Amino acid sequence: MPGSVHAMLSPSSAHMWMACTPSAKFSSQFPDEESPYAKEGTDAHRLCEFKLKKALGMDAVDPRPGLGFYDAEMESCSDDYASFVMDTWSKLKETCPDPMVMIEQKLDLSAYIPSGYGYGDCIIVADGHMHVVDFKYGLGVMVEAEENPQMMCYALGALELVDSLYDIDTVSVTVFQPRRENVSTWTITRDELLAWANEKLVPAAKLAIDGNGDFVAGEHCRFCKAKAVCRARAEFNLELARYDFQMPENLDGTEIAAILGRIDALVTWADDIKEFALKEALSGKHYDGFKVVEGRSVRKYTSEEEAAKVVTKAGYDPYEKKVYGITAMTALLGRKRFEEVLGSLVCKAPGKPTLVEESDKRPALDTAKEDFKTVVNEEENHDKH
Ligand code: SF4
Repeated sequence: MPGSVHAMLSPSSAHMWMACTPSAKFSSQFPDEESPYAKEGTDAHRLCEFKLKKALGMDAVDPRPGLGFYDAEMESCSDDYASFVMDTWSKLKETCPDPMVMIEQKLDLSAYIPSGYGYGDCIIVADGHMHVVDFKYGLGVMVEAEENPQMMCYALGALELVDSLYDIDTVSVTVFQPRRENVSTWTITRDELLAWANEKLVPAAKLAIDGNGDFVAGEHCRFCKAKAVCRARAEFNLELARYDFQMPENLDGTEIAAILGRIDALVTWADDIKEFALKEALSGKHYDGFKVVEGRSVRKYTSEEEAAKVVTKAGYDPYEKKVYGITAMTALLGRKRFEEVLGSLVCKAPGKPTLVEESDKRPALDTAKEDFKTVVNEEENHDKH
């Protein structure tokens, strides 16, 4: 069912409709589709809520029997989340005897976004300081707290709730993303938060609610329901096509840098178009020059149990035995126990050199040193022969 534009101005998509203000109204004509990842995230949130309420001595019903995606990893991640919140709460208790904790709290954002609201996973309020924690179960994108519009919206909603009772002057927001081992916290003053709301959020929401402003394509498009059919995104990506005919010989460094800056978006866009077109074609849509065929497939046993039985009978061991990988082992032992038992046996090999944009937070590799190493190695090898 197409969603209403009011429902579309959600904090979780604020990074998109603030960057491309017509996107909320434009994409509301497309149906909502809940991905398996979203369902998994919902299950993980329910378990986190339960664990945290139990840790705080509140009444809570164990949701585990009804969770379709429940597994050992979810158990361990929700434990970590509850421990993190409890640690934060204990620290705030050092300066405030009775901090208030709100869990899965509905937050009214209508003072900033027409009919806007959201749900804060956990909000801890102490004298002068408020802490907003958001649990992320996703693995795909590492989420940073700094200048994160979703987190800032939650902080604004929480401020609306408690501002008259507590004298808040500082707000911390934390993204807790255990499957990426990411705990990202950012602290700003109340005044900075309110200035952002008035200068950035409110004007963007005013445009977005009526579908006004310019279409602006970018990294945020990947979360847009219109991403496969949006002309602005297509034009943004097809700009690269000009390199096909404008450059007769070699591309120079500036041109290659320009292409590198756009290539990830281009690949994602191409995948989105392919996925959308396949879905349409399977529903009967014809694209000139294309047809649907059966893809390649791999051989597999019709029954694993039966295969094991006959191989055993034939005198062979049909099973392989190997050590669990880090993720599966962490899920088996739990994060704390994993560290105790295996911490000294885990190392991290240097990652493969990757070309990324200057804005990336990782420090640049010293490529001069790498070159030097290569030369020395080549000379050493030469001397040996
Ligand atoms: S795909 Fe990108 S450019 Fe198009 S409406 Fe969505 S966010 Fe805006």
